[in-house]
Formats: sequence, C-alpha cells, structure tokens
Amino acid sequence: MPNPSSPANGLEAARFQIHEIGSIMSVRECIVRVKGMPSCINGQIVDFESGGRGMVFGFNENEVHVLVLNTKGTLHIGERVLSSGEFLSLPVGEGFRGRIVNGLCEPVDGLGPIPSQDNYPVFREAPGVMDRVPVKETLETGTILLDAVIPIAKGQRQLLIGDRLTGKTTVAVDVILNQANLDVVCVYCCIGKPLSSLQKVLNLFQERGVLPYTIVVSGVASASMGEQYLAPYTATMLGEYFMNKGKDVFVVFDDLTKHAWVYRQISLLIERAPGREAYPGDIFYVHSQMMERAGYLKEELGGGSMTFFPIVEILQGDVTGYISSNLISMTDGQIYFSTALFNKGIRPAIDFGLSVSRIGNKAQWPAMKALSSQLRLEYIQYQELLQMTQLRTTGLSREAEDRMKRGQAITQLLIQDKNKPMSMEAEIMYLFALSMGLLDTLSTNDVKKFKDEFVPLVEREFPDLFKEIRTTQILNDTSIEMLYEALNHYFAQV
Ligand code: ATP
Ligand code: MG
Repeated sequence: MPNPSSPANGLEAARFQIHEIGSIMSVRECIVRVKGMPSCINGQIVDFESGGRGMVFGFNENEVHVLVLNTKGTLHIGERVLSSGEFLSLPVGEGFRGRIVNGLCEPVDGLGPIPSQDNYPVFREAPGVMDRVPVKETLETGTILLDAVIPIAKGQRQLLIGDRLTGKTTVAVDVILNQANLDVVCVYCCIGKPLSSLQKVLNLFQERGVLPYTIVVSGVASASMGEQYLAPYTATMLGEYFMNKGKDVFVVFDDLTKHAWVYRQISLLIERAPGREAYPGDIFYVHSQMMERAGYLKEELGGGSMTFFPIVEILQGDVTGYISSNLISMTDGQIYFSTALFNKGIRPAIDFGLSVSRIGNKAQWPAMKALSSQLRLEYIQYQELLQMTQLRTTGLSREAEDRMKRGQAITQLLIQDKNKPMSMEAEIMYLFALSMGLLDTLSTNDVKKFKDEFVPLVEREFPDLFKEIRTTQILNDTSIEMLYEALNHYFAQV
C-alpha cells in the first residue's frame, strides 16, 4: 500500500483533477441549489453553462448551495454546472492603482481592461505570528485629534464606530487624502452603500488627485449580493499584493454593518439556523478572519504593512449590538463618533472617553508622544469641570479657571474642517504652542486665526523647521529655537 504521507505520493495526487458536472435544482435570488457534485468543498468556484460563476457556500447530503457571483443571462432549472475544483482567485497588479473595480476585480470605471501581474486567492489565510513584527511606524492620519490622542500605527486595525451621519466616512477618507506624499497605497472599499455615496467619495478623490495611489472597490447596494459579499475580501487581496511587495497599505471598509447584513441575507436564503439578531453563528469567524489579514510583515518578507479602518454603524449610540461588539473585540481599538458632539458642532465628533488605540502609541513620533501625553487627561478634566460649572457659575478657583481656559484651547485646537488634513509637523507645532500656554488666553476666533496663519508663516520664513522635525521626529534644541522664533514672529505681528 502506498504511504499516503510520502511526498512522491503527494505529487502523484496533484496530477488528478476532479471535474464534476451538476445540474441546477432551484434558483432563489442569489442562491442556486445544485445536485450531482458530491465532492465539492466550501469556497470552490463553479461555472454555469450559460456563463457566469458561482461559489460553493454550503451543502448537505443531497444538494450543494451555490452563491451566484455573476451571470450572463438567466439561470434555469436543469442547467449544467461545472466544478473544476478551484478556489476563487482574482487578478492583482500594479495597474489596479487609480482604478475602480467591482467585487470580482473587474473594472467598472470604463477605462478598459487592467493589466495584471498575478492571481491571488481571495480567501487567503492571514500571515502567521512568525511572519510578523510588532508595529513600529506611525500612520499619519492628518487629523490632529487622532495623531495626538488616538494614534494609529501601520499594521493596526482600528474600528470607526458611530451612528448614521456622524462623520465616519469623512475621517477615513481624510486619511487617504493625507497619504498624497507618504508612499502609502490606499484601498477604499464601499459595501452596501448607495451609488450616490460612493460617487461623492469618488468626486472628492478625483478633485484632490488621490486616485494615482488609490484603488476603489465598489460593492454598492445595486451590485449583486455575491459581489457585495466579496468586496471586502477583494479589497484585502489587492492590499496584500502591495503589502507583499514591501509597501504600506491602508484599507477602509465602508461599512462592515452592511457586509454583515449581506452575509445574514445569504445565510437565511440557504436556511442556516439564525442566531443572535438573526445573524448566522459564524459571522464572528467571517469578520475576525478578515481582520487578521492586517499586520506588519517582517523584513525577510518585504517589511510591508496593511492597516485596516473598518467602519461600523450603530443605532442610537448603542455599542453593545452583536456586530459592533464583535468588531470591537477583534480590532486594536475604536474611534467612537458621537451624535451629541456632532450636533454641538464639534468636528470631528469623536468622543475621547470612549475611543482608544491600544497599540498606536508604541509607534508615535517621540515629539508627538511628549506633547500629547497630558492632552486626554486635561480634556477629560475640563469636561468634568464644565459640567460642574453649569450648576455653579461663580467662585471658580484660579486653578480651575486655568484648567477651563486650557480645555477651551484644546477644544478649539482639535476642531478640524473636513478634507483638510494636516501634516504631522504642523500638528506638532500647534501642540507645542498649546503646551506653552500660548493659546489659553486667545479667543475662539484668535485660535482659529492662529491655526490658519501660523503654519503658512513657518513655511515662508522657517522652511527648515519642517525638515528638522520630520527627520529627527523629536523636538531638539534647533527646532525648539526655530519654533520660539516663529511663535515670537507670529505673536509680534498680531
Ligand atoms: P453615513 O452614516 O451616511 O455613512 P458618516 O458617519 O459616514 O455617514 P459622513 O458622511 O462622513 O458621515 O459625514 C456626515 C456629514 O457631516 C457630511 O455632510 C459631512 O460633510 C459632514 N462632516 C463630517 N465631518 C466634518 C468636518 N470635520 N467638518 C465639517 N463637516 C463635516
Ligand atoms: Mg459613511
């Protein structure tokens, strides 16, 4: 008897290819039941006789459930289905940058075919622990609040969580805008959103010249359920190509709530037992496997990284929902968007208290770390004081008054217009001014003016300061001296 574990035997076995031909028993929306494919495996690709492809999504003794990915016509009962035993793999390559593709990696921007370098499996396993290194570089988000208080490291998974219309997409898109000169490949994956939402993002990308380093994966609500389900995997796969080439990649999933809905719908169609909130039991596994694919690869594997920003939508600030609490537990931190703050006019409407980045500060620039270490505490103390003073307006101690002023200055400094990312150097300069107490005495308008005018002044008069901060990542004597000079210059003229 041949030894089944011997390598020679393995090679022999590889020569066999199983081709099975089944036939369609029933078609129900995106799910087709097929008989006559007894040796199929979950995730295998099948071809329909009339054209188009499907993916094996489950089976029992009598039938196979196939998720329709695309069709070329209508599927009929009795139609033949061919399984060649292959798993879904799609083209990847350099040429995908600047393009818009659907969940099956086909161009949908009308710019013709995309040259590909390779084919990658869509459902690839995440890199193992031994292939990774701890995070060591910061991802410059361009949003001062994030860089200072909720810093993100390359390779991190950070959840953006909040109610409808609280600015989640804006913050994620601003990170992409900020990568213009930072050599990061960005992927924006739209899942289950109306085409108009995607169009808005695309217009902004086009206007700001972001597309040369960005890939858009479109799984909009009007696409087939199969494409919507695949979109985040396709986005991850495209990112993996660049990560394996040693690049830093940043992926936004907008949003995974819709992805969970799609998965629930598909599962209900194949009559899987619904669990909590009617989601199938394996939704945790589905998302956690996807999130695992982010990370920082070791030098021998090219030293690339992939950072994930999954977005999840919640209802009335309730983070305890099934999908959101799952995702909180499988990411390295969350950014919580609050409707109350949004309504107060605070933008970005991020709640400090409920937001956390568990690993980002390990990779923060030392200058930023030093300047922002007290910020969270000072801000939270200010919020508490603010609540107290709403009840009692007189007799505030000198110390409390100072804290109030500092809190107001922080609030003003952290307010940021949409689509106006700041460089890390500029953020450090502002926080330095704050730490010197220079903003405490300014009025709201004067802080705004300072934010508008100070950095352009430095660019004009002290251009070396930018270079000094970026190369050293610390505030050394040279840069502090220059900063003092620039601040003197600014405050002398106002
Ligand atoms: P949805 O639930 O529809 O996905 P969302 O949470 O992604 O919404 P956005 O679409 O990013 O929210 O933003 C909602 C609105 O708030 C938009 O009109 C946007 O222009 C505005 N907005 C968001 N952030 C800012 C900001 N920093 N400054 C000014 N306006 C902002
Ligand atoms: Mg959005």
